[in-house]
Amino acid sequence: MAKIDKLVVVGVGLIGGSFALALKGAKRCGQVVGAGRSAANLNTAMGRGAIDSFEADAAKAVRGANLVLVAAPVAQFEKIFLEIKADLGPDTLVMDAGSTKRDVVAAARKGLGAKIAQFIPAHPIAGAEKSGAAAASAELFRGRRVVLTALAENRKEDVEAVADLWTAIGARVSRMTPEEHDGVFAAVSHLPHLLAFALVSDLGGRADAAKLFGYAAGGFRDFTRIASSDPEMWRDICVANSDQLLKEVSRFSGELEKIEKLLQTGDAATLEKLFAGARAARERWLKGEYE
Ligand code: NAD
Repeated sequence: MAKIDKLVVVGVGLIGGSFALALKGAKRCGQVVGAGRSAANLNTAMGRGAIDSFEADAAKAVRGANLVLVAAPVAQFEKIFLEIKADLGPDTLVMDAGSTKRDVVAAARKGLGAKIAQFIPAHPIAGAEKSGAAAASAELFRGRRVVLTALAENRKEDVEAVADLWTAIGARVSRMTPEEHDGVFAAVSHLPHLLAFALVSDLGGRADAAKLFGYAAGGFRDFTRIASSDPEMWRDICVANSDQLLKEVSRFSGELEKIEKLLQTGDAATLEKLFAGARAARERWLKGEYE
């Protein structure tokens, strides 16, 4: 798939819009057709040059496409796969950008049926707390990882073709199983989002919330940035990966209990050791030592 004549993006938001802009920028695709549920957002995507036209009907949109990217919230996937299945040509590849993978693969098996071999699951590890086509950027994926969780049914050359597209727009391709993917991202993405939402929700629900927010500063802003993320998207991710996320919540609760005991017993030395270990681990991560 050196060049895509027709790319269809179902869900032209931050991720779908960015993928289209990046592929256009890399001169790897011709016509881009969008499909979605918000006409206002699709018009924004047209205005930004991410798509050339749009269709209200996703099934109609995918006819004659070389590649279909499904980039709606993950709970919508099964319905979308069912909608487009009959109109997918035998050489059309379908890829997603969903943040969870076991549920997406299950939805694709149900929705695409015998056409499952044409579906290549992908998760770009790039995003922002902003959403919609207005926030899309051709540079979003540059230098970022994208995880492919290829299926046993996929043709090797198709997986290589989509990996090549991600590479062409500056992403670094990694491969995992869906199970491994969901375990890793429960820890490093889904739990942090849950904690940010939980903290802001708790403070925001207090009688003296105005006073508390009035004094909140840089540390609070950094810690809670991701609580500005799209609620529907994060509802779907947390529900889809709830078993792995619950394991992480339980582990994290244990860590908090440990810290609570250190505070109760006034064990400043152990508290400092824990903080120093955390800071050192974060610095190693910032230096790219875990890459
Ligand atoms: P977004 O809200 O910016 O865009 C989603 C788009 O999908 C919206 O335009 C919405 O109108 C459209 N949509 C919703 N339901 C639809 C349906 N049934 N049919 C067609 N379109 C529909 O969200 P986003 O941040 O671009 O996320 C899209 C996908 O990418 C999600 O599955 C998310 O899990 C994944 N993802 C997000 C990030 C991130 O940080 N934002 C990172 C990696 C992956």
